[in-house]
Amino acid sequence: MEHFDVAIIGGGSAGLAALKQLSNLEKQAVLIEAGKTVGSKNVSGGILYSKKPKNGKVNNVEDVYGQEFVANAPLERLITKYILHATSKDKIFSIDLTSAHKYQANFGYSVLLNKLNSWFAKEATASAEKQGGGIIPGVHVKSIIWQNDRTIVETNELDEFEVKAIIAADGVNSEIAEMTGARNKFTTEELYQGVKVVVKLPEEIMEQRFGIGPNEGAAHLFAGDITLNHIGGGFVYTNRDTLSAGAVYHYDSLIQKPDEPYVLVNAILNNPMVREFIKDEVAVKEDIDKGLPKEEQLRTRFAVSKLVKTWDDLRHSYYSPASRAKLIESGKYKSETEIKARIDSIHQELSDKYKAKFLTDYVELEYSAKLVPDGKRCRMKKPYNKNILFVGDAAGRGIFVGPRIEGLNVGIDDAVRAANAVARSIDRNNFTHSYLGEYYTRLVEDSPYTRDMKEIDKDYLKTFLDATKDVPKDIVGSRYGMIFRLMTSGTLRGLAVGFANILGYDRLLPIVESVETYVQVPVEIAEKAGTVVSSTYTPTIPTIAQRIAKLKYDDDNLSHIKVLHPKNEFMKKMVILCPTKCYSIENDDVILQHEGCIECGTCAKETEWRHPRGEKGINFQYG
Ligand SMILES: Cc1cc2nc3c(=O)[nH]c(=O)nc-3n(C[C@H](O)[C@H](O)[C@H](O)COP(=O)(O)OP(=O)(O)OC[C@H]3O[C@@H](n4cnc5c(N)ncnc54)[C@H](O)[C@@H]3O)c2cc1C
Ligand code: SF4
Repeated sequence: MEHFDVAIIGGGSAGLAALKQLSNLEKQAVLIEAGKTVGSKNVSGGILYSKKPKNGKVNNVEDVYGQEFVANAPLERLITKYILHATSKDKIFSIDLTSAHKYQANFGYSVLLNKLNSWFAKEATASAEKQGGGIIPGVHVKSIIWQNDRTIVETNELDEFEVKAIIAADGVNSEIAEMTGARNKFTTEELYQGVKVVVKLPEEIMEQRFGIGPNEGAAHLFAGDITLNHIGGGFVYTNRDTLSAGAVYHYDSLIQKPDEPYVLVNAILNNPMVREFIKDEVAVKEDIDKGLPKEEQLRTRFAVSKLVKTWDDLRHSYYSPASRAKLIESGKYKSETEIKARIDSIHQELSDKYKAKFLTDYVELEYSAKLVPDGKRCRMKKPYNKNILFVGDAAGRGIFVGPRIEGLNVGIDDAVRAANAVARSIDRNNFTHSYLGEYYTRLVEDSPYTRDMKEIDKDYLKTFLDATKDVPKDIVGSRYGMIFRLMTSGTLRGLAVGFANILGYDRLLPIVESVETYVQVPVEIAEKAGTVVSSTYTPTIPTIAQRIAKLKYDDDNLSHIKVLHPKNEFMKKMVILCPTKCYSIENDDVILQHEGCIECGTCAKETEWRHPRGEKGINFQYG
């Protein structure tokens, strides 16, 4: 049987950081990832933060991958504008929260995980191979066996192998946590459901529209009626030449008032401000004359598709300085004017010869969804079991601070702490729970991120309140108006935060995280102080069937999910809450068709839920 020092299960941003850190410490580790390629199963919003807390130290991404990280990694845009919008129909009141976004941050970059995690994997592999380790993609860990003093990892694809310790970075629906009894499945109260779409938008058009420079980015957050009465909010983040638009809602509020995830994301896309953000010029092909001979129809269809693709690709290159320069360097075009002339001539040909129309619409590239753990409610207090350490989403460690979600940076910090603990155990050859697990628990407890999951930070609150100073206090419902006014006094704020922290999040959250906070108050603000934003077009939003058809899957004839209680009320809600409509009801029984599953985890609570076998299932292209 093969032996390795450490197995890392899961190649998301957390698992990859664990592999890189262990290799940096010259320890051998193998990382097992179920996805066909690293990055194909991961979804985020997402902004990757690097932080500098005033007390304590966190391990940032550049500490793991080197100080050249920002220069070398495929980051999208440095977020320099962070705006929260209170919405009520077409009225919007905007609050500039850039100071809150920059609070204790070295940077926050928008990222797409397929690209970023692949880059992390390349970097980690180069280091890990020097230690006799590496990454094995396309392999699904199905069980862990403890036999006397031995720890054996069983997979669906490989021969079993033995390790001294395991770092479980297998995400929010951690099978390792469940199968080893390290924790129960998360409850709906502890989770949020995130759903997002990636929208294509040429670089320079985006920069002009969002008022950002070539290396800058914007984040727009939304609360109010746009959430369709759910606790949480919407977001639009600028990537280099795409936008990430989506919604993250408290799972309990979805259970109480089920709405289809695609309806929720469509509500974001249909907001007049978002419509204006996502709009672009889109070519629409005219139906081909059915009276023409078959061969002629085929020839025309082919010619039109080719021209539309060329027009679209060339136009996107034209609006990107780097791609424009490449086209000229390659000798294909002599100048920018020549590229523009070619775009116009294709446009002309498509309209005149083939009667194609050019409309204002938007182009959706990918639809995705994933659960997000709320660390305030579900972080594992004991993030280990025997010689297995849990990190990132698997340990329930996500932070929700105001509109900000932090999971990527937290997982990376956890991973470094876990890797350091494991390296220390390797040096002493001591993998007992007291030497390894309890030491790791102490390291995690010391993390400033854990503090953020336990307490309100009064300085952050001040930054947040200062940013909202233009919100007319007298128009915010009587309870909130009073709180706002009281909080502007430093002394009262200090006392209130002290009191709130004594109360603890358990008692505070039901009051703070309510429909009143996320919907009613923003609606009132928008109604009374907002301005009307209008949009002159209606986006052609794809149906869910069209969205699924665009996704890439490696189908498995075996289902990775088993419905245990087909008549159960929770399962009936899945008919609505599954983002890809995998559930239906037949004769009062809930039936699953697993083929369209995007592995979001929403149905895991009451099913026998596994990740698909290695290489099978969804392959996200953007994440
Ligand atoms: C819509 C949305 C918006 C978000 N916005 C932000 C944001 O702005 N900023 C931020 O910091 N965070 C954000 N987050 C949270 C962040 O994306 C997550 O916290 C982070 O991606 C989790 O990383 P991870 O490595 O812990 O888990 P994952 O990325 O879930 O990785 C787990 C990996 O384990 C693999 N795996 C699972 N089981 C097995 C097995 N048995 N065998 C082998 N492999 C296995 C999976 O294939 C997967 O690749 C957002 C999340 C969502 C959904
Ligand atoms: S079947 Fe379950 S895990 Fe798959 S997409 Fe639907 S809710 Fe998500």
